[in-house]
Amino acid sequence: MKFDAAVLTKTGGPLEIRTVQMTGLKPGDVLVRIMASGLCHTDLEAIQGRLNLPLPLIPGHEGAGIVEAVAPDVTSVKPGDHVVCSWNPYCGHCFYCDEGQPILCESRTTNEPKGFLLDGSNRLSLDGENLYHYSMVCSHAQYCVVPESGAVVLPKEIPFDCACLLGCGVMTGVGAVIRRARVRAGTSVAVLGCGALGLNVIQGARMAGAEKIFAIDVLDGKLQKALDFGATHIVNANMVDSVDAVKSETSGRGADYCFEAAGIDHTLQVSLDVTRPGGDVILLGKTEVNKEIPIRWGSLMPERVITRSSYGGGRPKIDFPFLANAYLQGRLMLDELIDKRIKLEDINQGFEDLAAGWLIRAVIEMEH
Ligand SMILES: [Zn+2]
Ligand SMILES: [Zn+2]
Repeated sequence: MKFDAAVLTKTGGPLEIRTVQMTGLKPGDVLVRIMASGLCHTDLEAIQGRLNLPLPLIPGHEGAGIVEAVAPDVTSVKPGDHVVCSWNPYCGHCFYCDEGQPILCESRTTNEPKGFLLDGSNRLSLDGENLYHYSMVCSHAQYCVVPESGAVVLPKEIPFDCACLLGCGVMTGVGAVIRRARVRAGTSVAVLGCGALGLNVIQGARMAGAEKIFAIDVLDGKLQKALDFGATHIVNANMVDSVDAVKSETSGRGADYCFEAAGIDHTLQVSLDVTRPGGDVILLGKTEVNKEIPIRWGSLMPERVITRSSYGGGRPKIDFPFLANAYLQGRLMLDELIDKRIKLEDINQGFEDLAAGWLIRAVIEMEH
């Protein structure tokens, strides 16, 4: 079949809207008619060539839509189901899947960097040449083909533009709090960076019952938004020392937990310094993979626990429906994360806005 997609043909972009071709479904495949697709910072990394992925490819890993068709062996989803795509499909039988860590699934970590699906092959072509999958999703397109474990059924009541956000930013942020760090009620949480990821950490901390939630950023607009999402204290790090600000409100000790969601080199050290001795530091932001970042040895000494979390400890088949129901019950804010709705042809402008730093989320409303 043929359909329109945003294609990255050269490092740095721009993305081109092209008609692409897809082969028939292979075992385990699910064909999704994409209805909404969110623009995420990791897409930007792919466009900028920081992920060393094969080109051309179709970016997009926050997609929601309607199942159009499934391979004969697929049992957990059926045509007509509303689904959100997960960029963490998994084989279910490797060492890490058996260990209950599907984020580390060997079939995914082997094949995702090659632009393939779990079975080590692709389904897409552009003018007769190989076209590669990005994150095993490729949602910046009218259709995508994903492994069965990458298509998670949601209640039909949740709108697609909100549903797509569950597929990356919400799972990563809320999951890091609830699943990975297991934040306890009555504790204090500091959040460095109040973009989409940080805001989701903040609302996760609110859902977990944290008593004090410190939102730290350098943009007042983002700090105001952080208050809407549940922050109890806001700190503009350009105006005051964020470590002093947090310590002064926590009896001089520091926060019980700090989530680093800024992805800036020096905030790694800040995340250690705002955390109390024996507290938990959860690193969510990213920098270049080969970069070495200095940290002060003494800040490691007092029994701080450092954790890196990629997908919020997510188990998508369990957590996406949980998050969708939290939204439908009014406990999870999704509409407020979207500050722009765009068409597929406006995707380059959307990424420019995201790179400029003021945008939380732009969502493509896909036309068919
Ligand atoms: Zn596996
Ligand atoms: Zn993402």
